[in-house]
Amino acid sequence: MARHQNTQLIQVGKADFVDGQAAVNVPVERTSTVRFVDSAAWQQANAARAAGAGVRTYGRHGGATHTALESALNELEGAERTFFCSSGLAAITTTFLALLRPGEHILIADNVYAPVHRLAQGILKKWGVSHAYFNGSAADLAAKITPETRLVYAESPGSLLYTVLDIPALAAVTRAHDLYLVLDNTWATGALMQPLSLGADVSLQALTKYVGGHSDLLLGAISAKAPQVIAALEHVQEDLGSVVGADDTYLALRGLRTLSARLPVHAKQALALANFLEGHALVEQVYYPALASHPDHALWRRDFVGANGLLSFSFTEQASEFVEVFIDRLSLFDIGASWGGYESLVLAVDSSRLDYQSAFDAQGAVVRLHVGLEHEQDLLEDVQQALLAVQAHLTNKFKELTV
Ligand SMILES: *Cc1c(COP(=O)(O)O)cnc(C)c1O
Repeated sequence: MARHQNTQLIQVGKADFVDGQAAVNVPVERTSTVRFVDSAAWQQANAARAAGAGVRTYGRHGGATHTALESALNELEGAERTFFCSSGLAAITTTFLALLRPGEHILIADNVYAPVHRLAQGILKKWGVSHAYFNGSAADLAAKITPETRLVYAESPGSLLYTVLDIPALAAVTRAHDLYLVLDNTWATGALMQPLSLGADVSLQALTKYVGGHSDLLLGAISAKAPQVIAALEHVQEDLGSVVGADDTYLALRGLRTLSARLPVHAKQALALANFLEGHALVEQVYYPALASHPDHALWRRDFVGANGLLSFSFTEQASEFVEVFIDRLSLFDIGASWGGYESLVLAVDSSRLDYQSAFDAQGAVVRLHVGLEHEQDLLEDVQQALLAVQAHLTNKFKELTV
């Protein structure tokens, strides 16, 4: 019987025994030059590499730590090969450079990570690749395809509002038009959903988030199955020469070993907070796909096996002017960009990052919470008291208006 993914993620990439023993963790193998025992070994390695085998002849091709992390990511994403980049954003840019040529066109789901908009208007435009947005549905995608379209880029659930896309339906459209479908899988990591199994050609993710899991790492991964996609990624990776260090791959692998234990705790606590917020008088709307009231809840249940600690909510219009009171009163949620570490975080969402999204319908100010691994009751009480502070400000304002 095939083993469960959780088991495989513990087993995969273990160091070989030498003289009957081995450390639990793969060592950090730092090297630029790889030495060879004789000329025959050097020639053999070069010939194997030229024939397409993943053999390294130089440190830029990675070492034992990289290989172990790659095996683990292949397992996580259901991929044949995974390439590493210095950040999640670099993984996105590298994928675009690998799969697009000047004169081609890219369709971007309007719910994606905001820096992709800048990338489309910057590097892609300069490079002669045009872009347009679609609303995430297969029908809108099909309607917006042009003869130049080559690649469709999407994220599910999307950033900030967690809109869930029908990936098999999108894949049916891209397959019919011979286009690449690239998914940003940072939210689900491969543990909660595998885009490659649902028909995507590339699944990329910021290991910075849940895989690293400890807010001490920036790293990106690009995973693929088809030989021609792998070859394109490998060539551009070689040409860019932008390799990642063994220390960072070690940290990603260490984080990955406990991913299956962390995610359910994040999800359970986020759902508890989402339920509480949904019932609160100062809250207009809660965005969390595991909530039965989320518009894409059924789709999320169909394609995902779990959720994570990320949720957004909007204040009522009245309460919105006190969003900073709420944020500053929280004591367990630090203010900070990014998410996926063990700690709770909060951020006021810049509305310019939401205006792109066709699903954005809130009137009030939007706040994003990353619900960490602190005790659920403490987190709930912290949010409760911060909302009480907002209520007090509202009451005072009302009093001032009436005297
Ligand atoms: C954070 C994030 C990225 C970028 O990752 P970095 O490692 O910070 O560059 C890309 N996509 C999504 C969905 C993200 O949340």
